[in-house]
Amino acid sequence: MKKKERQIETDLAHFGEERETYNGAVVSPIFQTSLFTFKDWDAISDAFDNRTKSFIYSRGNNPTVDIAQKKLAKLAGGERALLFGSGMAAISAAVLHCVKNGGHVVSVKNIYGPANNLFYTYLKNKMNLSVTFVSGVDIKEFENAITETTDLIYLESPSSGIFSLQDIAAVAKLAKNKGIKTIIDNTWATPCFQKPLQMGIDLEVHSCTKYIGGHSDLVAGVIIGSNELLDQIYLREYEWLGGKISPMESWLITRSLQTLPARMRIHETNALQIATFLDEHPKIEKVNHPGLKSFDQYELGKRQMTGYSGLLSFRLKTNDLKRIKTFFNSLDIFQIGVSWGGHESLIYALAISYGKELNQQQFAGTGLTYGDIRISVGLENVEDLIEDLKQGLLLI
Ligand SMILES: *Cc1c(COP(=O)(O)O)cnc(C)c1O
Repeated sequence: MKKKERQIETDLAHFGEERETYNGAVVSPIFQTSLFTFKDWDAISDAFDNRTKSFIYSRGNNPTVDIAQKKLAKLAGGERALLFGSGMAAISAAVLHCVKNGGHVVSVKNIYGPANNLFYTYLKNKMNLSVTFVSGVDIKEFENAITETTDLIYLESPSSGIFSLQDIAAVAKLAKNKGIKTIIDNTWATPCFQKPLQMGIDLEVHSCTKYIGGHSDLVAGVIIGSNELLDQIYLREYEWLGGKISPMESWLITRSLQTLPARMRIHETNALQIATFLDEHPKIEKVNHPGLKSFDQYELGKRQMTGYSGLLSFRLKTNDLKRIKTFFNSLDIFQIGVSWGGHESLIYALAISYGKELNQQQFAGTGLTYGDIRISVGLENVEDLIEDLKQGLLLI
């Protein structure tokens, strides 16, 4: 009888581990080593012949990193994953792999700020790259933006700023027909709730700093995709740009992956309950969360995601900065800070940093105001979190 395929929770606990090689320890050791030694000339020479898989030098491969990469590839339904020292190191490596000098990129407008700047400022000036930004809500926008020199379509769905979605399967199909590569930043949904590779996307990138790490104690990134593409990225952008992850960070990621599905279920239920509370509150203008029926792209989200994470935003009815600050500063459990996806609940207003990092035109394009508050709903008790928001809203 064919064995039933294991579910992902089980694989995240055991897949990729080789416990017999480390005395049966249930938690793998950290291979804190920069290099690996060999018994003779032929052995090291053979390792170089198979350099995409061999342990030679830790800027390339390391067994601790390997375990986390195997679990991540399995989780996303990809063939290979490569971990990097940050989400931006993963994104820049993936993008550089797909573009060429003087080429053209179609990107969604409301992507993560530094990724936007990578296209808009850095690659434009360094490589004469031209970029067309689209809102991404209609497939026709992509069709119209594509030119003969388009090498790459870059997606972020849901986007971490305004949570707008793209029809992933439709974009992947359009791109494949024209021989254009596709990258999606899947940090918001995590591979637990969205599987872009199965929808035809070439490369999936994540900031592992967010839910995949989940404990706010590491910065890391990952690219996941086919062996064909990832082996090429390994030999070029991974080895030559050198944005590697450390064994310690990888070990923390393996620790985190074992609880990822369980954590995501709590982030999801807590956030949906809070989004509903805010949606019904008289001092709130609008709530942006793809899991709310009132969300513009609710149907599309339901079609391509199997769940929702805990990052959402809402617009206060008041636009008086003094009152906005009173609310913002009054919260006790929600901590003030950037980033998201950790066990702790956070509050932030994107306009604070976007206003400084983006030029006026880019900032205007985001449509954000100071009354747009973003929260990352953590794993605390949801009644306590609602109580915290409720007392803050009473003050304004
Ligand atoms: C944080 C973030 C990144 C960048 O990740 P780092 O680990 O901070 O480099 C990329 N995309 C999204 C959506 C993010 O939220």
